[in-house]
Amino acid sequence: MSTPTEPSFRESVDMMFNRAVALMDLPPGLEEKIRVCNATYTVRFGVRLRGGMQTFTGYRSVHSEHMEPVKGGIRFSLGVNQDEVEALAALMTYKCSLVEAPFGGSKGGLCIDPREYDDHELELITRRFAYELIKRDMINPAQNVPAPDMGTGEREMAWIADQYKRMNTTDINGVACVTGKPTNAGGIQGRTEATGRGVQYGLQEFFRDSRGLQKAGMTGTLDGKTVVVQGLGNVGYHAAKFLSEEDGCKIVGIIERDGALTDENGLNVEAVRSWIASHGGVRGYPDGTYVEDGAAVLETDCDILVPAALEGVINLSNADRIKAPLIMEAANGPVTAGADNILREKGTVIIPDMYANAGGVTVSYFEWVKNLSHIRFGRMQRRQEEARHQLVVDELERLSHHLGDKWSMTPDFKEKYLRGAGELELVRSGLDDTMRAAYQAMAAVWHERDDVDDLRTAAYLVAIEKVAASYRAKGL
Ligand code: GLU
Repeated sequence: MSTPTEPSFRESVDMMFNRAVALMDLPPGLEEKIRVCNATYTVRFGVRLRGGMQTFTGYRSVHSEHMEPVKGGIRFSLGVNQDEVEALAALMTYKCSLVEAPFGGSKGGLCIDPREYDDHELELITRRFAYELIKRDMINPAQNVPAPDMGTGEREMAWIADQYKRMNTTDINGVACVTGKPTNAGGIQGRTEATGRGVQYGLQEFFRDSRGLQKAGMTGTLDGKTVVVQGLGNVGYHAAKFLSEEDGCKIVGIIERDGALTDENGLNVEAVRSWIASHGGVRGYPDGTYVEDGAAVLETDCDILVPAALEGVINLSNADRIKAPLIMEAANGPVTAGADNILREKGTVIIPDMYANAGGVTVSYFEWVKNLSHIRFGRMQRRQEEARHQLVVDELERLSHHLGDKWSMTPDFKEKYLRGAGELELVRSGLDDTMRAAYQAMAAVWHERDDVDDLRTAAYLVAIEKVAASYRAKGL
């Protein structure tokens, strides 16, 4: 018997898509129109570095333009290739649709190991890549709006925004050409933490769903649940930090490039993060057990497994040994189509990537809106809200005094009630609302339809239905 082979990432996404559309009644042709990637642009450009010319290969793929601009990050990684970028662009289409961010799907990538270059070199390379994309309208506030992804962050987004401004000096909305910028360069508060925050809000919502919990064979709340996180980058770090500091989860395993750390009593996420920052990896960290074979820690007996690094890490070779009853896909595509089948058979509940990591693009949407409206959220209302609350507090205190001061408000309540919401509170509230609504849309299909037995298929059904509706509205 030959061993089954793993499909490519894009094929894996297509297989999951096909499983869902088989349950839908789409007009002939529309199904394929939605599934295929509309266009992928490949660029090879040279940058003069270290006394010579170095050539780099980059991509920007547009999966669906049923809504514009199209949206999706740009990653810097040696693993970048056309298949990967197209798979990620497709996931962006479904993700935006599911969380009702009014965008089509896109993704970009540059084949580079950013750790090999210093800041100045990276700036030259990023600006040159941005130049190539801008001149073809593949970065544009109305058409295509990138964001951070693996290997990129605020700094790269600031360079891209500045490059766009230099090339489009009269575009009053120029700063909206990219999201995930630093707050001093048109960014929004809460964007950096957003994907991790979304992981937290998504899990909180799952734990409010008694039928979902039952399907995973779980009970109770997040408090005391054991969690293994793979990848302590931006997403994994924030997710692990919030889950441990705010929800009472125990981070019993952290998997990184050079191995993993385990501690059944829970690892200190901040301490591990700063150890990695100063030592380049987890090896040698004093307060936990070091495991050289990091991937083996994915198979730990824990409540929640959070793969927050690369695609394809749970695959045909290890799926049957995964013990966690719940997987939260903080990364894009961490479970292959083959592994998904095995896990579904076992009854593992998988909260799919297009939902689990949608916090990033959701807050990107808020940033884009902020940029287009040229005003910070809360600037007009905050003090007015505080003044109205003050009126209520003053009146209650007057009444209390009238009744002989028999009761009084606790200072803590007063302080919290009086404070008007600033940008960060509004961003978090909008994100929480988005994650709750999207979960409920997905869970309704999961629980109500007899032919749907997993959240991923449910998520695809909700997402594809909305994309199809927007094509129909255009008369296609
Ligand atoms: N790169 C992130 C993702 O995969 C964010 C995309 C965005 O904000 O446009 O969802």
